[in-house]
Amino acid sequence: MIKEIINKLQSELPATVKLVAVSKFHPFEAIEEAYEAGQRIFGESRPQELLAKVKRLEEIRAEKDDPDYMSDIEWHFIGHLQTNKLKMVLPYASLIQSVDSVRLLEAINNWGRANNKVLNVLLECFISSDETKQGLSRQEVLDIISSSCRYDFIHISGVMGMATYTDDEQIIRADFQRLKEISDTMREHISKGGKRGSDCREISMGMSDDYHIAIEMGSTMIRVGSMIFGERKY
Ligand SMILES: *Cc1c(COP(=O)(O)O)cnc(C)c1O
Repeated sequence: MIKEIINKLQSELPATVKLVAVSKFHPFEAIEEAYEAGQRIFGESRPQELLAKVKRLEEIRAEKDDPDYMSDIEWHFIGHLQTNKLKMVLPYASLIQSVDSVRLLEAINNWGRANNKVLNVLLECFISSDETKQGLSRQEVLDIISSSCRYDFIHISGVMGMATYTDDEQIIRADFQRLKEISDTMREHISKGGKRGSDCREISMGMSDDYHIAIEMGSTMIRVGSMIFGERKY
């Protein structure tokens, strides 16, 4: 099942769009099945769970006596990250998609300096009309870009956002349009003298129910969970 869905999704996607398989709340066996179908990037939203899965993989490698088993798997962190949990996430995640405050960005930069590791991040933008969602405003994103020289252990790869939870396609489209505009403005600022080396190309938007719209609106990375792995049991 998982295999068929991954294969179908991968064959549908334009070459410019990456698939992140959101495996939160699903067991490691589900990840292995997706991996066997060729999936390499997995999204997790809770530090404890990401760490448990990383450890599980290490155990399996030891059991199989194969240190290279699934060695090209990539973990993306997509959930709210508290600054006291950085050490559970930053050593393992190749991309932190959910940087939703300047305070978190600074904490990540400090961790990077202390551990001599440059961290790849996306700036999570608030684009929906759901009060509960997190994220930076357009202005905050631009302020971060203007001061990005301060973040010497951070590589800003782009932006991430979540549309309003609704069936109304017009609203979803408008939310994604907002994220695309933030991305465009951000990249203009960079070409006018922001930090070199930060192309900020990625636009992570689109989930199981709205990824078609997101791709139309310029997504470069979709985060699909329940469509691949089934409903989550919380
Ligand atoms: C859970 C989650 C997803 C995946 O959602 P589905 O509707 O299951 O595809 C994508 N992005 C984020 C940030 C999530 O927390």
